[in-house]
Amino acid sequence: FTVRASAAQPLKNADELIDSVETFIFDCDGVIWKGDKLIDGVPQTLDMLRSRGKRLVFVTNNSTKSRKQYGKKFETLGLDVSEEEIFASSFAAAAYLTSIDFPKDKKIYVIGEDGILKELELAGYQYLGGPTDGEKKIELKPGFLMEHDKDVGAVVVGFDRYFNYYKVQYGTLCIRENPGCLFIATNRDAVTHLTDAQEWAGGGSMVGAIAGSTQREPLVVGKPSTFMMDYLANKFGILKSQICMVGDRLDTDIVFGQNGGCKTLLVLSGVTSLSTLQSPNNTIQPDFYTNKISDFLTLKAA
Ligand code: PLP
Ligand code: CA
Repeated sequence: FTVRASAAQPLKNADELIDSVETFIFDCDGVIWKGDKLIDGVPQTLDMLRSRGKRLVFVTNNSTKSRKQYGKKFETLGLDVSEEEIFASSFAAAAYLTSIDFPKDKKIYVIGEDGILKELELAGYQYLGGPTDGEKKIELKPGFLMEHDKDVGAVVVGFDRYFNYYKVQYGTLCIRENPGCLFIATNRDAVTHLTDAQEWAGGGSMVGAIAGSTQREPLVVGKPSTFMMDYLANKFGILKSQICMVGDRLDTDIVFGQNGGCKTLLVLSGVTSLSTLQSPNNTIQPDFYTNKISDFLTLKAA
């Protein structure tokens, strides 16, 4: 028997919630869009919040794109959102390395896609790996020894559709042969929703492979870790109690908001259903839940 946090309330008075905070942090997939499709009423909702003077921030655990690439995605969907308002886990990896003054003469081995490479480059870091290592094969002949670059001081792992054994072995060598080598994960999402047809193995699967072979736990920079929340609070000079975190996932978004002491709102426009939220097995309770963010436009006090 576990004691559950008090049950989430259906959002009844959106104005009250809006007036109670300065900033809204929106998760992206399942809140703003689903895959490449905009969720109904999002542009009008964001416009309304801006006209009421709210700061809007967008945070995604999907590390495959850079902030700039997400900027284009927002634009393509007809949303007026600037790069500076977008914080993807690819950017978080680069921001974390910058925050610890990771030396510029060291290198970073990347197991992940283009977004991470672009962000590391912008932050002034040297990297190797990435999608092109997906073409590399290991030919196991007797006595074969895989070399690795001894200047690698960090391995960054994110979602990677070009994942293979070469990368697992390379990343493992970097970490196992250098106890000082950092092991950073953009996120550990167990599953993701590349298509509506089924759940797909998420970034946690690639991270888990490296954790398994190195027997080390990664430092996670994406949701639900506190790194991004602290970074945002610091950057914008905002109190976390003045933030409402809006997301569609309990174990990443809602825990992220709760870890930061923010208000939390679960939307049912993504991966979590009302029955999952209300299941006796679920221990994660946001403050409020509602169907989609455009409910902000209609849910007025009675
Ligand atoms: N990681 C990958 C690879 C994804 O495709 C997605 C969603 O599309 C996510 C993570 C989760 O993204 P978000 O944090 O925006 O829900
Ligand atoms: Ca989401």
